[in-house]
Amino acid sequence: MTARLRCYRCNETYHPPEQRCVCGEPLWFDVGDGFAPDPDAPGLWRFRDLLPVDDPGGLAHAAGGTPLVRTSRLDDYAGCRVHVKDEGEHPTGSFKDRGTAVGVAAALDRDRPAVGTVSHGNMAMSVAAYAAAADLDCVVLVPADIPPERLRIIAQYDPHVLRIDGDYGRLYDESLAVGAETGVTFLNSDSPLRVAGQKTTTLEVLSAFRPEAPDAIVMPVSSGGHASGAWKAIRDLAACDALPATPKLCFVQSAACDPIAAAFRAGDDAVSPTTPGDTIAYSIANPDPPSGTRALAAARATDGAVVSVTDDEIRDARARLARDAGLCVETASATSLAGARRLAADGVLAPDDRVVLVATGSGFKEASAAASDADPPTVPLADLQGAVAGRL
Ligand SMILES: *Cc1c(COP(=O)(O)O)cnc(C)c1O
Ligand SMILES: [Zn+2]
Repeated sequence: MTARLRCYRCNETYHPPEQRCVCGEPLWFDVGDGFAPDPDAPGLWRFRDLLPVDDPGGLAHAAGGTPLVRTSRLDDYAGCRVHVKDEGEHPTGSFKDRGTAVGVAAALDRDRPAVGTVSHGNMAMSVAAYAAAADLDCVVLVPADIPPERLRIIAQYDPHVLRIDGDYGRLYDESLAVGAETGVTFLNSDSPLRVAGQKTTTLEVLSAFRPEAPDAIVMPVSSGGHASGAWKAIRDLAACDALPATPKLCFVQSAACDPIAAAFRAGDDAVSPTTPGDTIAYSIANPDPPSGTRALAAARATDGAVVSVTDDEIRDARARLARDAGLCVETASATSLAGARRLAADGVLAPDDRVVLVATGSGFKEASAAASDADPPTVPLADLQGAVAGRL
């Protein structure tokens, strides 16, 4: 365990609370060269040798340890052999809990522990929940026009919610400056602590396939924090001589907001900001992703790809996950399946490939996205037997 940070691009080292290299790229934590998973530890703490903090107990024990499900009924649709990593099983319904558990553990070690985040979605819920459980003050910065439904889900954990009147895109940097002055540990999308926690999704996937490795891991990408974590997991295991083979890292965006996929298609070395359109995948609509260039590098370094899919493809994939796998995933998460189908059609994935789709979040927070035409027949109680038999 070490508290040294490093730039993946220039190899320059730093110390917390630094978040970015002088070159502008985000930093991540160094690890030692030894690693022995602890099979008795709860959730992601199995990988504590590769984490920058100690297990704080409490709700942090509920982060990680999500199921990996073989979903063979999706194989034909996807064009490869599909496994789903179901991150919706977390207390707040998304993989964000992994980064939060590590971030809150780090904040607890400080003199005036308080945490904060810039989010109006899953990250806000996650940070608010874990702060509540750890008895930490929590500041959540949301845009002025946040939908009331989402505000209510965040507010139930009783954080200090502030609606920000101004350019929400500037808050990423502004909040870090405010955090340095006020002692609040801001856990933004790609903060090194979050990425350390979020790499455990891929550490778990790779450990489930040992002594082999999956051919590819497919996940939605927005800020690039989770995608960077996937790459970091691969690099950490390689550094410890514990990587049997390198899976292709494939990232998926919504076509309405796809700056990373655009850079991949164009063969660019860096991601440029885009003007976002409307998409049903609102959790992955970051037009200026802070770890976009790092995610792009991850896809290239692993022989993977970055693709984008339309709202129609996402809607169709979401329905397939429910009907053919019994999984209710968030709209943004269904991009994994839509993306795999694209990648198989493009020849990046082969029919025999073992592919892990990361279902990043639960769909149970979005009832409106579920089957909109649900209109079952009404049958008189007296006709029940005939009605059931007629449907089998
Ligand atoms: C945050 C989030 C993502 C995107 O993760 P990044 O680290 O921002 O790229 C994808 N899916 C869901 C459900 C999310 O909440
Ligand atoms: Zn650098």
